[in-house]
Amino acid sequence: MSAKIIDGKLIAAQMRDELKQEITELKKANIVPGLGVILVGDNPASHSYVTGKQKACAEIGIYSDDNRLPEKTSQKDLLALIEKMNKDAKIHGILVQLPLPKHINEKDILLAIDPDKDVDGFHPINIGKMVAGQETFLPCTPHGVVQLLLRSGVKIDGADVVIVGRSNIVGKPLANMLIQKSPMGNATVTICHTRTRNLSEHTRRAEILIAAAGLPKAITADMVKEGAVVIDVGVNRIEDKTKASGYRLVGDVDFETVKEKASLITPVPGGVGPMTITMLLFNTVKAAKKQA
Ligand code: NAP
Repeated sequence: MSAKIIDGKLIAAQMRDELKQEITELKKANIVPGLGVILVGDNPASHSYVTGKQKACAEIGIYSDDNRLPEKTSQKDLLALIEKMNKDAKIHGILVQLPLPKHINEKDILLAIDPDKDVDGFHPINIGKMVAGQETFLPCTPHGVVQLLLRSGVKIDGADVVIVGRSNIVGKPLANMLIQKSPMGNATVTICHTRTRNLSEHTRRAEILIAAAGLPKAITADMVKEGAVVIDVGVNRIEDKTKASGYRLVGDVDFETVKEKASLITPVPGGVGPMTITMLLFNTVKAAKKQA
């Protein structure tokens, strides 16, 4: 039987409605959540991500402060802008779009953001709090995955979860969230990577399989347990001459064959992607409430 599709757009829309209502309440107390956005350089993908994030802010009533800086911006000037935003009471969250140009030290920049305004959840203080199971800003993509599972009625508690990918922005934080002794955790998690021996031996055990490798067709039907829940975080461009752009986006999962084996599956696009921005909005509203 074909898997039920997890509609990321629908779940994201529901969460954005909930946030909009919270913002309406905050505005009654004269609090307008504000996001300071910083983009350095001309990377077209980064410009399109930032535009998407600001549009999403505007749609639910979050004020956003747009700072698009030239490629040659110095680290000193960037740090000065972050310092200004750290002190600005209208800005509750700060987003520095990555990657930064090579002459800027990404680690120093992320460290300069006030942890109370770190709505990406990348500051080591917030990563530490997450690992220790303390209240903090959770990184957006992995938190989006957890929300997709919870809001689709998937039982995480006690489940065998396998994550393919161990990056700092997806695999590692996701594993941490899912092992916490909390309503969004209590899973038994295996993290796989390029040095994993016999990848499919692990993936075939998974009741919940999460692909975050950045490789088209990394997960094929023979690697999936019958009835598994499959979450595809991957976003890959592959050539498609039928498209005006010359490419189309696919995930890491061979969707057409795997959907015949899984019980639930996310599509690409329209699965995890819409949740990532939603969780940024969620963290910005959370920051505004915290700073009120
Ligand atoms: P990344 O930093 O490149 O990490 C990829 C991870 O996958 C690495 O840990 C790598 O192992 C592992 N890996 C790669 N090929 C593998 C293979 N054949 N077998 C086993 N493990 C393999 O990527 P990322 O930033 O985590 O992103 C992963 C994917 O998610 C990308 O397609 C990215 O575009 C997408 N993404 C989507 C969103 C969204 O909002 N939808 C957000 C973030 C990322 P090693 O560590 O051993 O190299």
